[in-house]
Amino acid sequence: MKHRIVILGAGYAGAFAAGNLARRLAPADTEVTVVNAAPHFVERMRLHQLAIGQDVKFRNLADVFAGTGVRLRLARVTGVDPERKTVAVTGEDGDGELAYDTLLYALGSSVADHGVPGVAEYAFDVTGRSSALRLRERLAYLGEGAAVLVVGEGLTGIETATEFAESRPDLSVALAARGELGAWLSPKARRHLRRAFDRLGVSVHEHTGIEAVEPTRAIAADGRSIPADVTVWSAGFAVHPIAAASGLEVAETGQILVDRTMRSLSHPDVYAAGDCAYAIGENGRPLPMSCASAGFTNMQATAAIIARLTGSEVPTVGLKYYGNHISLGRRDAIFQMVDGDVLSKSWYLGGRPAAWFKTGVLKGAGFGIAHPTFGMPKRKRRLATEPDRAGVRAAA
Ligand SMILES: Cc1cc2nc3c(=O)[nH]c(=O)nc-3n(C[C@H](O)[C@H](O)[C@H](O)COP(=O)(O)OP(=O)(O)OC[C@H]3O[C@@H](n4cnc5c(N)ncnc54)[C@H](O)[C@@H]3O)c2cc1C
Repeated sequence: MKHRIVILGAGYAGAFAAGNLARRLAPADTEVTVVNAAPHFVERMRLHQLAIGQDVKFRNLADVFAGTGVRLRLARVTGVDPERKTVAVTGEDGDGELAYDTLLYALGSSVADHGVPGVAEYAFDVTGRSSALRLRERLAYLGEGAAVLVVGEGLTGIETATEFAESRPDLSVALAARGELGAWLSPKARRHLRRAFDRLGVSVHEHTGIEAVEPTRAIAADGRSIPADVTVWSAGFAVHPIAAASGLEVAETGQILVDRTMRSLSHPDVYAAGDCAYAIGENGRPLPMSCASAGFTNMQATAAIIARLTGSEVPTVGLKYYGNHISLGRRDAIFQMVDGDVLSKSWYLGGRPAAWFKTGVLKGAGFGIAHPTFGMPKRKRRLATEPDRAGVRAAA
């Protein structure tokens, strides 16, 4: 019987991991299946561009995995039973169940509404393809001078507000920030950010926590009413509650608690990667939800799975966060390096060079997804016998 590896989610973490595992493990004794709700790969890093009407292409997952040996199952995951080692799914062909020997959980994240009244009913977001398309449709109907309020001064909020203002100068774009805009950036990068906001005409409401969203306005904590024909909620990401509900040990955030090799602390046959893993970086702090972290964690998880199955030593992949790369429309960006304590270094890269760099990063990630086995060693490794694996476990 083949060893069944099931990967939940074909996003940045899951798609790479699936290609890597299928490329490096012998199909004679391994079966790699990836389960994804949607039929295409969603480049989440471009969803604010999609929302404002730009042409963003989505690769078909069937094409991405063609010829790789990865089996694609299009279905929504509804539950995991780590005791029985099964995954419950629902799809076009109804409800079903998949059995696994090794599970890699990589279901990503979606919008965090923080329980703020009106967000679920009236606000839009750019965290998923369908929500970005809903926003795109709404924005297309807005006439000159219509007010768009982006809530949240994190990376996604800044990228969204600047992208919208650059692409649609006819709109009146504002951003609500709980604190000061770009407070975490170095002083020079912060000045760069403010200049970009001024140039693009994005107004900023600082020290403004939004406590309610209504159809045509948002209400701040101090009672102020901010006009908003459209409110875009960008106040953070939240993970799917499936992991917590399944009995896997999770952090307060709902992310799966993992060891240094991305293996679940509670269930050794389960690994997690990407936004849904509570992975601790080299600096002793949790890695931020980001594409870069999805890269490190999926590489570490796949390296550990392959090593344990083939009876070799588990290699260590660096888990280091180098900095934030924030686009400010298509022609400007900020690349801010951070130190080991995640504090901004004084040096930053800004302007067109940073924008080109960011475009290169996006293209690189897109290429990687389109060719999920590119650059991986071709050698297919056979699985070790159980006594050999037990030896590796004992040595670890
Ligand atoms: C607008 C925007 C801009 C961003 N910009 C940057 C940036 O510049 N740099 C950066 O590092 N990060 C950025 N991010 C964050 C980055 O996109 C995420 O951290 C990254 O996508 C996480 O990868 P992942 O594989 O964990 O999850 P995802 O890429 O979200 O993949 C999860 C996959 O699981 C599937 N899925 C989810 N639930 C189910 C289910 N129940 N059943 C079946 N399938 C399911 C989804 O369809 C998806 O394919 C941005 C995010 C957004 C929204």
